[in-house]
Amino acid sequence: MRIRDIIEQSANEGRFRFSCEMLPPLKGDGTDGVFAAVDNIMEFEPAWIDITFHRETLSESIGADGRRERHTLRRRPGTVGISAAIRSHYGVEVVPHLICGGLSRYDIEDALIDMDFLGLHNVLALRGDKSPHEERFTPHPQGHSRAVELLRQIMDMNRGRFVDGLVDECHHSTFSAGVAGYPEVHSDALSAEEDILHLKEKVDAGADYVITQLFFDNDKFFDFRRRCREAGIEVPIIPGIKPLSTIRHLEILPATFGTGLPDDLISEVRRHAGDPAAVRAIGTEWCTAQCRGLKEAGIPVVHLYTMSRTDQIAEVLGNVM
Ligand code: FAD
Repeated sequence: MRIRDIIEQSANEGRFRFSCEMLPPLKGDGTDGVFAAVDNIMEFEPAWIDITFHRETLSESIGADGRRERHTLRRRPGTVGISAAIRSHYGVEVVPHLICGGLSRYDIEDALIDMDFLGLHNVLALRGDKSPHEERFTPHPQGHSRAVELLRQIMDMNRGRFVDGLVDECHHSTFSAGVAGYPEVHSDALSAEEDILHLKEKVDAGADYVITQLFFDNDKFFDFRRRCREAGIEVPIIPGIKPLSTIRHLEILPATFGTGLPDDLISEVRRHAGDPAAVRAIGTEWCTAQCRGLKEAGIPVVHLYTMSRTDQIAEVLGNVM
């Protein structure tokens, strides 16, 4: 089922639902860890499950002959395969992510063809972050520099237009794509206004819905949604949230995701700095309150970032669903 249809169905039925994001296993791991994470949340009936896509990194080592050697590492491969495995094991809709970073248009086309054969017709189209060895995001020489270009490739494929040209008589894929949005503005954007215009470009190119970067202040989401509507973005906007679980998140979350943390949350966490269980409980309570606020405002689906750790997420869902 298309994600946009699932969202519309939840809205029409007045039913509050959640989606969540899992990571593919580390290279060498089987499916047990991810399945255990999914097991924790299945009783709450996820509307769908996203699977992240991880780009390669470069590492250097000194070879036996003393020469510097460069290796490409992909620590979490297998996004498409684990998506299909989760869908077939649990019967839940899945959304593999696909990024521009490190991939040529041909690599992307191959991944899309695999998804189509496996019956995966939903995809989240992203640019991806810069690799740790890059100063700024650098596209693959035969790839895309922005998510909107990836989205156009996906929509072209739905029309039978492949990287090397049009195929007149062919099976047409029916991908439905979502894209990312940033209530607190993406770090590369020159201004909040431009960021929204670029988001509108993705929606105009065929995106069916938007999922937001995580935030801890619901007012930031409501303000973002208002600005999107004013700019003519009419597709569903799904809020993305995550429970804070350790005191280190006070530094990590703003640095990694450009997310501001409310003063009340910071001071409450700092007051319990020596007590990890209390900090986690504060995070659970905050996330529960965010979900309740979004539910009361009539949001049909919230998207929960899990990093494949779902114990705390299950507590939040137990409080809210
Ligand atoms: P884009 O939409 O291409 O935007 C990137 C920047 O370029 C923005 O600042 C935008 O304003 C600007 N821009 C766009 N068009 C133009 C233009 N024409 N001129 C000038 N500037 C322009 N990363 C991963 O690697 N793997 C994942 O699985 C993953 N999942 C994610 C899921 C969600 C819900 C979110 C919110 C993010 C996810 N990310 C993931 C992170 C994401 O890849 C990064 O935030 C990345 O830096 C931007 O991706 P994007 O798709 O938003 O890029």
